Amino acid sequence: MSNDKNNPEIIFLGTGGGRVNLIKQWRATGGFRINSRSASIHVDPGPGALLNGLKYGQNPASLDAVIVTHFHIDHCLDAPLLLEAMSGYALKKGGIFIGSEYAVNGDKDGDRSISKYHIDRAENVYSAKFEERKKFITRRGSFEIEIIRTKHDEPTAFGFKLFLDSRIIGYTGDTEYSDALAKKFEGCDVLIANCLKPSPDGIPDHMKTSDIIHLLNIAKPSKLAILTHMGMKFLKVGPEREAKRIENETGTRCVAAKDGERFEI
Ligand SMILES: [Zn+2]
Repeated sequence: MSNDKNNPEIIFLGTGGGRVNLIKQWRATGGFRINSRSASIHVDPGPGALLNGLKYGQNPASLDAVIVTHFHIDHCLDAPLLLEAMSGYALKKGGIFIGSEYAVNGDKDGDRSISKYHIDRAENVYSAKFEERKKFITRRGSFEIEIIRTKHDEPTAFGFKLFLDSRIIGYTGDTEYSDALAKKFEGCDVLIANCLKPSPDGIPDHMKTSDIIHLLNIAKPSKLAILTHMGMKFLKVGPEREAKRIENETGTRCVAAKDGERFEI
C-alpha cells in the first residue's frame, strides 16, 4: 500500500454483521469511512458509527457524503446523527446523501428507517438508480459513483464502484452472489465485500466464503479484497483463516478487516 497522503484511506468503524452480532456487539457495526483529497465519505453507518468514528479520530462534521446501501438498521441507524453533523448541527443544509430508494423515500407502506427530517438536512440527496453512474461535487473536488443492483431482501439495495482521486473502490453491500454481479465489480483497485458466513454455511441474500472466492476470481481487484460485515459463525471459525483460504484460492490479496483498522490505498 502506498503512503502517499493524496491516496484514499479506508477506516473500518465496524466489521460485524448478522442479527446476533448486532445485539451482542462482539464486533462493532459502524460501517466504514473513506478519507481522500477530494472527499470524506461514510458508508453504511450502522449502530456505533458516530461513537466509533470519534474513538478512531474521525470528525463527523468534516464528512462530505453519507452513503446508505439499504435501509436495514445495521446499515443506517446512525445515519441521522451523521446527517446532523454534516449539516452544521442541523442548523443549515449540508453534504451529500446517497441512499437506496427505501432509505431515501421509505418503502411501499411508507415505513422509514431514516426520518424525512434528517434526509432533508443534506444539501444534495440522491435516491440510487441501478446501473447509473453519477458525479458529485464536494468542497474539495469531486467523485463519481456507479450504482450496482444487488439481490437482498431490501429490493432497492445496491452496491457500488466509487471513482475517487484516481482510485476505484468497490463495495458489494449485502447481497446474494451471482456471476453477473461479480462481472460488474471488474476493474476495482480495492473491493470491500460483505461476507456473513463461512462455507458451507449459507443464508439467502448474503455471501459466504465460497461466494467471495467466485467473486474475486471474476472481479479480480488489482490491489486488495477486504472482508467485513462478518457474522457470528464467521468470527468463530476465524476471519484470518477464511481470508487466507480465499487468497490462496484466488491469488488476490485478501484480508479480514478489524474494528479500527486503516488501509491506505
Ligand atoms: Zn441487510
